[in-house]
Amino acid sequence: MKNETNNTFYACPYCKEEYANPVDLAHCILSCEEKKKKEEEQKKAEKLAAEEDARYQEVVEAKDNYLNLLKAYIDDYGTITIKNDYSKWEPIFGSKPWHWWF
Ligand SMILES: [Zn+2]
Repeated sequence: MKNETNNTFYACPYCKEEYANPVDLAHCILSCEEKKKKEEEQKKAEKLAAEEDARYQEVVEAKDNYLNLLKAYIDDYGTITIKNDYSKWEPIFGSKPWHWWF
């Protein structure tokens, strides 16, 4: 789209197309930006899909690790002293059930 009578050309930073008119250039930049955004979203979706099995495996391993740590704690320290110091275990087991108050 070169204008041979004008030596001032504006190049789109994305596709390098040259324009003699800055308005045409602006349209190209907006269009190229939109295209780039869509391509990045597509890449992100593909990456997430490709990693799904591995991410699931990480969750399973974290759960196994958690259970092993809890079991080792109980083995070393006996039963969890819930009645004396429940607040310590709240992050693990959630709020104290109502019947434990009696
Ligand atoms: Zn462009």
